[in-house]
Amino acid sequence: MPGPRAALRLSRLLTDPSIRTAWMAVLPPLLAVVLQWLLWRSIQPYVWFLFYPAVFASSWIGGKKAGLWATALSVAVVWWLFVPPTFTVAKPDAPVLPALVFVAMGIAFSLSHSRLRRSEQSLYDLFDQAGDGIFVADLDGRYTHVNAAGRRMLGYANGELIGMTIADLIPAADLPRLGQAKERLLAGDSDVAEWTLRRKDGSYLAVEITAKILRDGRWQAFVRDIGERQHAQAQLRLAATVFDNTNEAILVADHERQVVTVNPAFTAITGFEAHEVIGRNPGLLNSGRQDGVFYRAMWDSLNTTGRWQGELWNRRKSGELFPAWENISVVKDPSGAVTHYVSVLSDVTPMKAAEERLSHLAHHDPLTGLPNRLMFVGLLEESIERARRHGQTLALLFIDLDRFKMINDSMGHLAGDELLKEIARRLKTTLRAEDGVARLGGDEFTVIMHELARADDAAGLAKKVIAALARPLRLSGREVVVSASVGIALFPDDARTVDDLTRAADSAMYRAKERGRGTYDFYSSDITERVVEHLRIEAGLRHALEHDELRLHFQPQFDPTHLRLVGMEALVRWQDPRAGLTMPEGFIAVAEQSGLINDIGAWVVHRACAQLRAWLDAGLQPVRISVNVSGRHILHDHLVEAVEHALEVNGLDGLAAPIEIEITESVLQALAPSAVVLQRLRALGVRIAIDDFGTGFSSLSVLKHLPIDTLKIDRVFVRNIPDDVDSKAIVSAMISMAHTLGLHVVAEGVETDSQLAFLRDAGCDEVQGYLLGRPGPAETIVPLLQAREAAATR
Ligand code: C2E
Ligand code: MG
Ligand code: MG
Repeated sequence: MPGPRAALRLSRLLTDPSIRTAWMAVLPPLLAVVLQWLLWRSIQPYVWFLFYPAVFASSWIGGKKAGLWATALSVAVVWWLFVPPTFTVAKPDAPVLPALVFVAMGIAFSLSHSRLRRSEQSLYDLFDQAGDGIFVADLDGRYTHVNAAGRRMLGYANGELIGMTIADLIPAADLPRLGQAKERLLAGDSDVAEWTLRRKDGSYLAVEITAKILRDGRWQAFVRDIGERQHAQAQLRLAATVFDNTNEAILVADHERQVVTVNPAFTAITGFEAHEVIGRNPGLLNSGRQDGVFYRAMWDSLNTTGRWQGELWNRRKSGELFPAWENISVVKDPSGAVTHYVSVLSDVTPMKAAEERLSHLAHHDPLTGLPNRLMFVGLLEESIERARRHGQTLALLFIDLDRFKMINDSMGHLAGDELLKEIARRLKTTLRAEDGVARLGGDEFTVIMHELARADDAAGLAKKVIAALARPLRLSGREVVVSASVGIALFPDDARTVDDLTRAADSAMYRAKERGRGTYDFYSSDITERVVEHLRIEAGLRHALEHDELRLHFQPQFDPTHLRLVGMEALVRWQDPRAGLTMPEGFIAVAEQSGLINDIGAWVVHRACAQLRAWLDAGLQPVRISVNVSGRHILHDHLVEAVEHALEVNGLDGLAAPIEIEITESVLQALAPSAVVLQRLRALGVRIAIDDFGTGFSSLSVLKHLPIDTLKIDRVFVRNIPDDVDSKAIVSAMISMAHTLGLHVVAEGVETDSQLAFLRDAGCDEVQGYLLGRPGPAETIVPLLQAREAAATR
């Protein structure tokens, strides 16, 4: 039994074109000879006829060469067998003419048939080279021809598909559909449909098959691989779905930057319908918030890298601006020319809002809405840094409710929460927005106070807070009174870091609790003492004003040459029942801060005028009295009215310049823009002196434009005369400068003879100091006044 190998070999021998040609050249004529020999008697004299089919078959199957060989062989055999002298079988007629005819026809047939075969071959070539698969099947649907593309598509080698049917290639699920398709074809239609074919390796392939039944009953099918097409279509469908359904606005513009298309999200975000933007420039979204530099950078990036992304502000159709995150890509054709710009933008407003909400949640206490500990630390850090940079003082107030736990336990947590909310509300309304209030947790609150002028300000704020929290409030239908203790720590005095400052304020708060609730305490006890002292003084001064505890002392002023009395300075003292006679430096500052200075100033002016009146009444000659007036008094109160009134009630308004008002140099600067107050005082016949000159920063030009009569050189300059060369130079310069401006010069703090001598030589107009007379009560001045008059009458 021939095995499969032998069968294969046989089929090769039969199908290989060159071997087939050789067979065809030899076999048919030999078969014809055998037939002819057998039938010799009956077919005589048509001896050639049997060779015709042999030649035809040879050239039909084996080609031109086989046909020609068959012709030659046939002639040779016939000649050898049937033509004398060598014929062996029988003696036919010498058929030269039929032989020639046979040869001519054999050649002609071979040649003509080869042309046919050539064209058939080219048809087969075409068949094989076609891009689509071509499958031809016999009447039973078995493949007889499958071209190269068809084999390639399905991964089969030459010949392997022959004999298979379509049913062998499609999934079982498609068999019913195949039946329907066959029926349609048999009814005469051609059928185009998409199918899935199984490859040899088991994978599947999407194809489009155009099938048809040929006239001879065979089947023919064109098979096109549509995997690529389906893939591309799927991609397109996907892209379209994304385009339509994405939340990002997509805008496509052509190379001339005209909008070609936009997606529904674009309309949702910007409010512009597609028809409103197509054909227009995307610039219609510009918010105007970005400048030219921004857009130039954007186009630079697009031109060089082909893309840009970033955040920018756009404008909706409604005119509303919104922040967007935008991604722009440049699309180019294969030659590199720009065809489109694709911009994908998302509205980041909700994201920003969410971010803010999150950040608010993270940084605020949900119950009271106040900043929480996290934010407090950040705020305090910032505040400390700012205070450090500007050399300012900062106070941290640590507030703790007294007995909060008791309320919480007895009335329930809901009531506790209610209380905390109310406390937060009161803190917010009591404090300025810039005082950072925070809730650290539980019943602990903090306040950051910036740009503190004095420790007292923090104490003032603490008192305000304590008072605000002490107001009764209704809680679960009951009236409740809570108190709070406040601890105060100062930067940089007490601590310099967030932690240390918080700890310091906390421990100060505990001290306040120990001292009795509802009060405040400073971290450093000396500040507490200072503040307490301040308050004592303030209260004492009020008492002093009401109970006539203020006294006026006078310090005489002389001309340096003859040492004659020319005037005196009135200096206030406080006869404190507890501390005894107190000097102004012990209470003027407190009086200024508390506003009591206005009352004190008015009292001093009145007292000085009354004293002058008394002396005049006692028969003494008028003398000039200089009165110190605080800057605050000049700037904020009715000083002019007070002076006018004092002059009037004491009948001094007729005298020539009985009073001189001393104002300090620093006040001068604040006054510079409006000299009205000074003009009005001048109009009352009052002289104006600049006190403590040289300690401030006034320039000559300021002095020149103000109505000033006298310059008092501060005692710090006099102190170092005559040893210090600089002081001497400064004092000499001040005197000559003042004289140039037409001012009278008084030197203060003259304690030695050499100082006096220097000032006299330098041309100083008046001197005042311990050397010549200390400040004292009015009685101490009387002898000086009397001596002056005695000298005058002499
Ligand atoms: P001032 O106006 O510069 O007053 C001169 C101060 O120098 C007085 O101090 C006086 O006692 C002191 N003094 C005078 N001669 C000498 C001396 O030779 N050596 C030294 N070391 N000191 C001398 P006092 O009375 O303690 O006053 C201090 C400051 O208080 C005054 O400085 C003035 O600025 C302020 N003051 C005094 N009385 C009043 C007032 O009635 N109203 C206002 N607003 N301030 C006043
Ligand atoms: Mg003075
Ligand atoms: Mg002075």
